Amino acid sequence: MEERITREECGICHNSKKEGIHIYHFFICQSCERKIIETQPEDELYSYFVNKLKQINKRTQYS
Ligand SMILES: [Zn+2]
Repeated sequence: MEERITREECGICHNSKKEGIHIYHFFICQSCERKIIETQPEDELYSYFVNKLKQINKRTQYS
């Protein structure tokens, strides 16, 4: 029997994962989600994530 596993490309690490969260049409895999939660605001990565998320909001507003 063929197993149906839907894999989606994570918008942050660009790996195809089957587990993660959706923010609008944006998919974030579980490991990236954890990274975002663990990242401190003074961390350089934090602004990277925030910018990524801002882009999603912009895109959904215009579509
Ligand atoms: Zn990811």
